[in-house]
Amino acid sequence: MSHVAFQPKGQQFEYQADYVVVGSGPGGATMANALARGGASVCLVEAGPWRDPEHYPHSTFGALRDLFDDYGNGLTRGRAFWPVVQASAVGGASTINSAICVRTPADVFDEWTTDHGLDGDLLRDTLWAHQDTLEQELSVTEVPPASRGLFNRLAKQGADALGGGRLAGDQRYRYRRELRNAGWAG
Ligand SMILES: Cc1cc2nc3c(=O)[nH]c(=O)nc-3n(C[C@H](O)[C@H](O)[C@H](O)COP(=O)(O)OP(=O)(O)OC[C@H]3O[C@@H](n4cnc5c(N)ncnc54)[C@H](O)[C@@H]3O)c2cc1C
Repeated sequence: MSHVAFQPKGQQFEYQADYVVVGSGPGGATMANALARGGASVCLVEAGPWRDPEHYPHSTFGALRDLFDDYGNGLTRGRAFWPVVQASAVGGASTINSAICVRTPADVFDEWTTDHGLDGDLLRDTLWAHQDTLEQELSVTEVPPASRGLFNRLAKQGADALGGGRLAGDQRYRYRRELRNAGWAG
């Protein structure tokens, strides 16, 4: 893997690759990863800067300045104004998100069977196998008791009352490789 940073506007840069993926957020990075694992050469183009973890800002202002697009002030206008919070850095919004990893809940597959006539059991098994792999690769773990906030404590109580397992929208599971115990809030 090679990495070329901070090309000034207008400067020519040549690189040959089988594929060019624009944007290095979870969408683009997943696509680039799948293509590269399939043996293709891939050029991943990202508008934002590369930040090594040791250079991540430690203040809210620093994060807004260095990682967010437009200081987190993006807006879209429909019948009302809506904030659109986006990151601009290698990794996209995965650099600023809460690392919550939500699995497709079982009742979604039941609904696909009853309401849409699909083979929900087959879809569940297939998708959960992929989600197993993803969770392993991303080191998804349950937030440890000492780091649980109110939402995580309530989610745990609810899950225990229902016999254990994970709830729909459960925020207790987070990807945490190299997070060094950061990002556990909630
Ligand atoms: C504050 C916050 C918290 C969140 N918490 C969670 C969570 O806990 N769990 C969860 O699963 N999801 C969470 N999300 C949602 C999740 O982060 C997004 O759904 C995900 O990042 C979207 O991925 P993406 O690749 O589509 O886009 P993005 O992550 O937005 O990535 C797009 C990338 O493309 C780049 N780009 C755009 N245009 C160009 C261009 N023309 N040329 C080059 N590069 C370009 C941008 O700079 C950016 O880096 C959260 C999101 C936010 C904002």
